[in-house]
Amino acid sequence: MVVANGAEGEVASAKDRILMAHRPHLVIDGAILAAEAIGADEIVFYIGEEHEAALTAVKRALIERTGELRPSTRVVAAPIGYVAGEASAAVHYIDSGDARPTTSPPRVSEFGVQGRPTLVQNVESLAYAALIARFGDRWFRTAGRLERRGTALITLTGAVREEGVREIELGTTVGEIAAAAGGSPAGTRAVVLGGYFGTWAGIGDVWDLPLDPDTMRERGLTFGCGIVGLLPSEHCGVSATAQIMAFMAKESAGQCGPCIFGLRAIGDATARVAHGRAGAGDLGDIERWTSQVVGRGACHHPDGAAQLMASAMEVFGDEFIHHARHGRCSISGSRVDVA
Ligand code: SF4
Repeated sequence: MVVANGAEGEVASAKDRILMAHRPHLVIDGAILAAEAIGADEIVFYIGEEHEAALTAVKRALIERTGELRPSTRVVAAPIGYVAGEASAAVHYIDSGDARPTTSPPRVSEFGVQGRPTLVQNVESLAYAALIARFGDRWFRTAGRLERRGTALITLTGAVREEGVREIELGTTVGEIAAAAGGSPAGTRAVVLGGYFGTWAGIGDVWDLPLDPDTMRERGLTFGCGIVGLLPSEHCGVSATAQIMAFMAKESAGQCGPCIFGLRAIGDATARVAHGRAGAGDLGDIERWTSQVVGRGACHHPDGAAQLMASAMEVFGDEFIHHARHGRCSISGSRVDVA
């Protein structure tokens, strides 16, 4: 069984839905290759129910290939939700209509859809597999500036004139893609890299950073799902982080205590700091709870949220302290409302 995973629950990401909407046959070709490689007799295209253009395009492309396709295929609309795209949540939803991650083991590769070994693979990876099969690995390796070769899809958001999805050579710098879209170091304070599971970094530290998973990992940063979110220079990092943590708390699938209560507590405390209503222990509590939720869920949702929070405390440390002490934002000079 192959599940082509296009749930894309990460709200800041748009690469998978754009890819499926514009190049559905590439995704289908890649899924067929994957199925052939592992001897699967069925492919499920698992696509976010809110990504209507992607759903329509993949369904239409499958109809265009009626009679040609082996193995059998079907499309399942994934429910809206951050964790719905997690591999075990996808398998669970396809089987039962409930998109909650399940505790492992067994892993989905051993016991997946209908109890069969299942490969859950992101649609971008499948599309690249199809391209490599069509044009060869030497062709693919002509792109890329560092040791890791090829290209990647990036979702660029925030302090640029033109937000959107770009295909970049691996190793292209944050500054190059931001400048090409109308961004500048002066207009940007910080960048969230890799998505809400990712990491904050100060713009001065990463303007020349190559977007390359290996380089980023070495520097404690996250390539993740390829999000480059630029925080405008006049925006408050504490407030932006509070919004993200509120979202991550809301998106808990609600079955593991440390995730449900820990993320909610971190989100509430961060919101108090952002609003200028911090209690005496809030900053210490945020730090302590952030380290305590790691590894305490059935899936990696709390780990990702904790990583984002820890990086925010590092990058916006002075701002957190200013908010907590003075009840005001050091960037805008006023109280900040969190949406
Ligand atoms: S860690 Fe959170 S998101 Fe993951 S299964 Fe548990 S409650 Fe759900």
